[in-house]
Amino acid sequence: MQATATSEIDFGNTKVAFESKSDSELRNSYLLFKAIGFPWLVKIGPPMVNAAFAVGLPIKGIIKATVFKQFCGGESIQDCEHTIDHLYQFHVGTILDYSVEGTENETDFDHTADEVIRTIHKAKNNPKIPFSVFKPTGVASFNVLAKVSAGEKLTAAEQQSFENARARFRKICKAAFDNHVRLFIDAEKSWIQAAIDGLVTEMMEAFNTREAIVYNTIQLYRHDRMQFLHHAYDEAVSKGYYLGLKLVRGAYMEIERERAAKMNYPDPIQKTKADADRDYDAALEFCVEHIDRISVCAGTHNENSSRLLARLMEEKGLPNNEPRIYFSQLFGMSDNISFNLAKLGYNVVKYLPYGPVKAVLPYLFRRAQENTSVQGQAGRELQLIDKEMRRRKKR
Ligand SMILES: Cc1cc2nc3c(=O)[nH]c(=O)nc-3n(C[C@H](O)[C@H](O)[C@H](O)COP(=O)(O)OP(=O)(O)OC[C@H]3O[C@@H](n4cnc5c(N)ncnc54)[C@H](O)[C@@H]3O)c2cc1C
Repeated sequence: MQATATSEIDFGNTKVAFESKSDSELRNSYLLFKAIGFPWLVKIGPPMVNAAFAVGLPIKGIIKATVFKQFCGGESIQDCEHTIDHLYQFHVGTILDYSVEGTENETDFDHTADEVIRTIHKAKNNPKIPFSVFKPTGVASFNVLAKVSAGEKLTAAEQQSFENARARFRKICKAAFDNHVRLFIDAEKSWIQAAIDGLVTEMMEAFNTREAIVYNTIQLYRHDRMQFLHHAYDEAVSKGYYLGLKLVRGAYMEIERERAAKMNYPDPIQKTKADADRDYDAALEFCVEHIDRISVCAGTHNENSSRLLARLMEEKGLPNNEPRIYFSQLFGMSDNISFNLAKLGYNVVKYLPYGPVKAVLPYLFRRAQENTSVQGQAGRELQLIDKEMRRRKKR
C-alpha cells in the first residue's frame, strides 16, 4: 500500500472513530467516562468494590455491565469472539490480554502461562489476532523478580521459583515461535524490571534469529531508557538477532515517585511530562531509522506521537501497512486514533483484556485512575463522544 500523506490523518473524525458503536453503546460510554471523570468516585470506588466482594454483595453484575463492558472482552477467550470479529470488520486487530493480576503462587503462575499459550494457539494463522501478550508478574513472583533485580542473594526456594519463571517464559516464547505468533512482554515497576529485561533479552536471543517474535517493552517515562534502547540495539546487532519493541510512556508514575521518595533513592521517572514526550518520540525515531533490525509497536494514546510515527514512515518511504510497524491502543480507549489509522491502512491492534471479573479489577481500577489523572483523557474521550452524538442527531 502506498504511503498516505500524513496530512490526511484526522484524529478528530468521530464518524470513523465510532463507526463500530451503536447509538446506545455510545451513550453508555459517555455516561461511564462522565462517572470516571469524578476523582472522588474513582478514589472511593476500588475500596468499596473490594469490600462488596469481600462480604459477598452481588456487585459482579453491575461491574460487568459498566466498566468491564467498556474495557474488557469477556471472562474467557470464547467470550471475546464477538469483539474480535467486530473490530476486524474495521481492520483493527486484537491482542487477547489475560489480565489476571496479583497472584503470588506457583500453581497460579502455571495456570496463567497455560492460558497465555491458549491465546497463542488462538492467534495462530489468524490475521484478526496479530499478537499475544503477557505480563511478567502473571507468571513470576514479584518478590523474587525484585530480589534478582537488586542483585540480592536468593534462598534455595527463591532460586527454584526464579528457575520456574524462566521455564515459563521459555515455554510461552517457544509456543509463540513454533506457531509464528508475535508476542509482547509487558513492562512493570522499575524495581523488578531489570530481571524482566534479562529474561526477555535471553528469549529474544533464542527466538528472534530470523525475525522479531518476542517483543520487550520500553517505558520512556524513565530517564534511563534511551540509553537502554541504544544498548539493546547494539547487543542485538553484535549477537545477530532482531529486536522487537513495544514503546510506552509507562503506567506506574505515581507509585514510582512515592517509593523513590520514601526509600530515599533517585526518582527513576523523568522530571517532566515534556521530557517523557521527548524521549518517547526520540525512541520512535530511532526505531524507524533502524527498521532493518527493529520491529516496533507504538503503545500510546498520544495523538502527536501517533502522528509522528506515521510521518516518520512516510519520510522513510515505508508503506502504511509496513509489517514491522504497529500502532496499539487499549480496548475502550482512544478509538479516534485506532479507527482513523486503520481506515488509512496502518496496522492497528487493540489490547483486549479478559478474565474473571474479580481478577481483572486491578486492571479496571488502573484504567479508571488513568482516565481521571492523565491530563484530560476522560475529558478528551467525552468530548469526542459528545461530538459524535451531536453529529448523529443532525443526520
Ligand atoms: C497498547 C498499550 C500497551 C501498554 N503496555 C504497557 C506496559 O507494558 N507497561 C506500562 O507500564 N504501561 C503500558 N501501557 C500504558 C502506558 O504506559 C501509559 O500509561 C498510557 O498509555 C498513557 O500514556 P500515553 O503515551 O498513551 O499518553 P499521554 O497521555 O501523552 O501520556 C501520559 C503518560 O505520560 C507520563 N507522564 C505524565 N506526566 C508525567 C510527568 N510529570 N513526568 C513524567 N512523565 C509523565 C506517564 O507515563 C503517563 O502515563 C500501555 C499502553 C498501551 C496503549
